[in-house]
Amino acid sequence: MKKKILLVEDELGLRITIRDRLTSEGYAVETASDGKEGYDCALGHAFDLIILDIMLPRKNGLDICRDLRQEGLATPIMMLTARDQTLDKVLGLKLGADDYLTKPFEMLELLARIEALLRRAAPPQPSAMTAYQFGRVQVDFKRTEVSRQGETVSLSAMEFQLLRYFIEHRGETLSRERLLQDVWAYSKTPYTRTVDVHVVWLRQKLEDDPKQPHWIVTVHGMGYKFTG
Ligand code: CA
Repeated sequence: MKKKILLVEDELGLRITIRDRLTSEGYAVETASDGKEGYDCALGHAFDLIILDIMLPRKNGLDICRDLRQEGLATPIMMLTARDQTLDKVLGLKLGADDYLTKPFEMLELLARIEALLRRAAPPQPSAMTAYQFGRVQVDFKRTEVSRQGETVSLSAMEFQLLRYFIEHRGETLSRERLLQDVWAYSKTPYTRTVDVHVVWLRQKLEDDPKQPHWIVTVHGMGYKFTG
């Protein structure tokens, strides 16, 4: 399931830039261009996260945040503040925002913060899945064993964790950055190549034809997707 994010930002260029980037990262994004619209939208629909600019026409971000919390909404809120508005940051956090980012910011920073907030909001449940099968491959999560056509396949710990992550997020397009961050737990690393290498290894061990993978497919320009 895609995570749903509401973006309330009146600056058109920034709104589009953030929306497009989040969409390409696999989030479902709704936008609002003023405070009143944003507030109504936040109350009217369920979101996993709200990105809230402070300086907004019709209703400012601080008031929105305060009113949403008063309405009992617990959705994580990330405030966007302009430079030198230290007071706003403090006030925003007091009013119930979960995090803030000062403009201008790097998109990677925003993405990392979003992921952290989403993780905090929904701590990963210990996987209820004990086994999973796709094609001729059988995965036993309890015993950390994988077999293919009845024969044991030897996976490294990292390969197994990557496979588990793919299975838990089957059907989702997963960027290399996200895989690095969630599977390797690096927050930032230049070596997205690491992901490619492990995917190649997994394909060699699990796919009928590693050169034309059926299960772990490449989504060009985006990353990978597990189709099992
Ligand atoms: Ca603004």
